[in-house]
Amino acid sequence: MTESKGISSAVVAVGDELLIGETLDGNGSWLSKKLTNLGTPVTGRWVTGDDPVAIKQTIMTALEKSELVIVTGGLGPTIDDLTRPSVAELFGLKLIVNQSLVDQLRSRFSTIGYEMLPVRNLVQAEVPEGAIIIPNCEGTAPGLIIENEGKSVVLLPGVPHEMQSMFDRSVTEYINKRFQSRLDPILQRTFNTSGIPESLLAEELDKDISRFPSDVSVAFLPGLQGVSLRLTAPFSGGQGLGSLDFCENIIETTLAPYCYSVGKKSIMDSLAECLLMDKKCFAVGESCTGGLISKHITDLPGSSRYFKGGIVAYDVATKSGVLGIDKSVIEEKGVVSEEVAALMAERITEVMKADFGIGLTGIAGPDGGTKDNPVGTICYAVAGHDQVISFRKIFQGNRESIRERAAQAALFSLFRILTNRQD
Ligand code: AMP
Ligand code: MG
Repeated sequence: MTESKGISSAVVAVGDELLIGETLDGNGSWLSKKLTNLGTPVTGRWVTGDDPVAIKQTIMTALEKSELVIVTGGLGPTIDDLTRPSVAELFGLKLIVNQSLVDQLRSRFSTIGYEMLPVRNLVQAEVPEGAIIIPNCEGTAPGLIIENEGKSVVLLPGVPHEMQSMFDRSVTEYINKRFQSRLDPILQRTFNTSGIPESLLAEELDKDISRFPSDVSVAFLPGLQGVSLRLTAPFSGGQGLGSLDFCENIIETTLAPYCYSVGKKSIMDSLAECLLMDKKCFAVGESCTGGLISKHITDLPGSSRYFKGGIVAYDVATKSGVLGIDKSVIEEKGVVSEEVAALMAERITEVMKADFGIGLTGIAGPDGGTKDNPVGTICYAVAGHDQVISFRKIFQGNRESIRERAAQAALFSLFRILTNRQD
């Protein structure tokens, strides 16, 4: 029989604490990422309780579609740890005490000052007949691999750091050896955009995407920082790399007005690159973001090379007193206006002796909205290059999301000016 191409995997997380929502299934996400990168796409993920019937049923279901199933949780020494006996029963395997594991457990307890091995821990030395043992250097529960009818079930403990180190030390090697040529790592290229909603971006890219080769799949990922467009292709001996390059060429022009980075780079990373290259610096006068823009910038080490500083001019008196904004403009145009944002940008540039300045004022809610300026109204401006460009936008969401979206928009507008993409 010739081996079919590709190998798919599945993850089962066991634990009542996961089902009741007390603990987030972090192991599932972590394993999904690892398995995908190894070249075995995850076709399903399950969360089940500490119940033998449910454990067996879930593993059976996972095995229907996948040749490799990773199970985490329930390998501990207490009565609620039922994964080991459930899996042994599922495959009709006897549990046999492994003397070498008993010795290891004894020595582990003696090094931490216990003369006797607690009786309850003895169950952790019980191994289903024929299972491969995965050593656990950070805890007492060994991992187990059961091979059955060409499929593999890998049992790992639930404690995240134990599970992770065992996967990295032993399971990766096992998967590479066992499935070898059938592993096909996937390639991903993510284009991060700002300033355009998901549906409009999709509309603009429609034609481009229709020209993509069939091995490339597309995902639109909206978030507070904007919309990321992720392209995925199987590596397939290098062919995937060519496909992604081809697609990037196609979308480049359409994405140009909105794209600030490719990969994991944030808007701050991209801004930092531009400012360092141009040897320019900037400053921020912000109101409703309350220092969030300055925080994001200074989260990057070394930002003092291009960031002069920021003033949180929250109160009207601070806007006029500290930033020196004409009170009559505030009265005439309103404190949330493009005119005030523009003056804040200009004044902060002067005060901080910067090349560029960002000014921002708005209503983050939940109160304070009016008919003309509903909650989410943000006016922001960028001064520099002998010009001031101002914007008025209405952002959706709660106070936190409005402030995040506003900070991102303001930083993105400076990025557009620095990269000459301003309309
Ligand atoms: P267990 O191996 O089932 O005894 O789990 C030990 C501890 O690991 C639990 O108390 C949880 O705090 C944590 N844990 C178990 N499963 C997961 C999971 N899927 N994701 C994150 N943490 C987990
Ligand atoms: Mg548990």
